[in-house]
Amino acid sequence: MKTSVLLAAFWLGLVAHTASAAGPLVIAHRGASGYVPEHTLPAKAYAHALGADYLEQDIVLTRDDVPVVLHDIYLDTVSDVAVRFPDRKRADGRFYALDLSLAELKQLRVRERFNAKTGLPVYALRYDSTNAPSTFAVSTLEEELQFIQGLNRSTGRVAGIYPEIKQPKWHREQGHDISKIVLPVLARYGYATKADACFLQCFEYSEVKRLRNELGWKGRLIQLYSTKAKEEDGSDFTYLSSPAGLKELAAVADGIGPPLGRIVTWPAAGAAPKVTELVALAHAAKLAVHPYTLRRDELPKNCPSFEALHVAAFRTAGVDGIFTDFTDVTVAWLKANGAR
Ligand code: CA
Repeated sequence: MKTSVLLAAFWLGLVAHTASAAGPLVIAHRGASGYVPEHTLPAKAYAHALGADYLEQDIVLTRDDVPVVLHDIYLDTVSDVAVRFPDRKRADGRFYALDLSLAELKQLRVRERFNAKTGLPVYALRYDSTNAPSTFAVSTLEEELQFIQGLNRSTGRVAGIYPEIKQPKWHREQGHDISKIVLPVLARYGYATKADACFLQCFEYSEVKRLRNELGWKGRLIQLYSTKAKEEDGSDFTYLSSPAGLKELAAVADGIGPPLGRIVTWPAAGAAPKVTELVALAHAAKLAVHPYTLRRDELPKNCPSFEALHVAAFRTAGVDGIFTDFTDVTVAWLKANGAR
């Protein structure tokens, strides 16, 4: 009893920057993607059942401007597009969601992520795609929101959504303004204010500012960070990791989504984890920190175990939430450590 009270006090202290006082947030990265092909509705249902607080949606557009849930602007690493629509290949050898209508996209069979050149699965021990049923399909954003809200109602447990606007600069260069199309869909399903169970995320700093200052997004907003110092779209992650950059960011965003390597590293095998100053600096700027991604089958360099990664992220670094491919393991870790 005494231990649990102490642990609860410990966690409440850590999560002061989030809306929830229940402990760090568990964000199902592309659904329960460690077990079911990413972004399929079964992957979302499983993550919901395993206790995720938030379910992630990556969003790209079809040729007819329908927002769909896919991690990449490309289709060739998660579907049979190369077989069904061989003539849609661009000069760079890739197949783009933006080159297919929704009706065409719906004909694709979605499978576990694979290397388009070798045909081999990216994660060897995950779902066996030779068994992928034909019902594994690309969902529209609306279909997924309807599905999640159906589950929220039937289970009595509300899982939030965590949509990402993918490559807005590229979409605009192709003649499609993805943010302008996505925001009304979110609003129609009740995701519009900071009180709603939603975090909107984007890698492009100029778009994060545009979403807040020009497009009128009033919900919570997360600036994602890549592993690069600076991106082609102008996002300067070195500056955005400095006290001045974080202070500027806090004028528009509610939190940051950095890769785990910007939070914690293991300098050598057997060494203790080394925490960077980013979490403390972000917290000083009143920004929540939700890094990505916990993967049992892809640990950071020199990290000894999945358990050690959880300890380092939650206890040593003190993050406010985390993207995980393995919702059940992360929820179980938080429960065992008094944060659920
Ligand atoms: Ca994402």
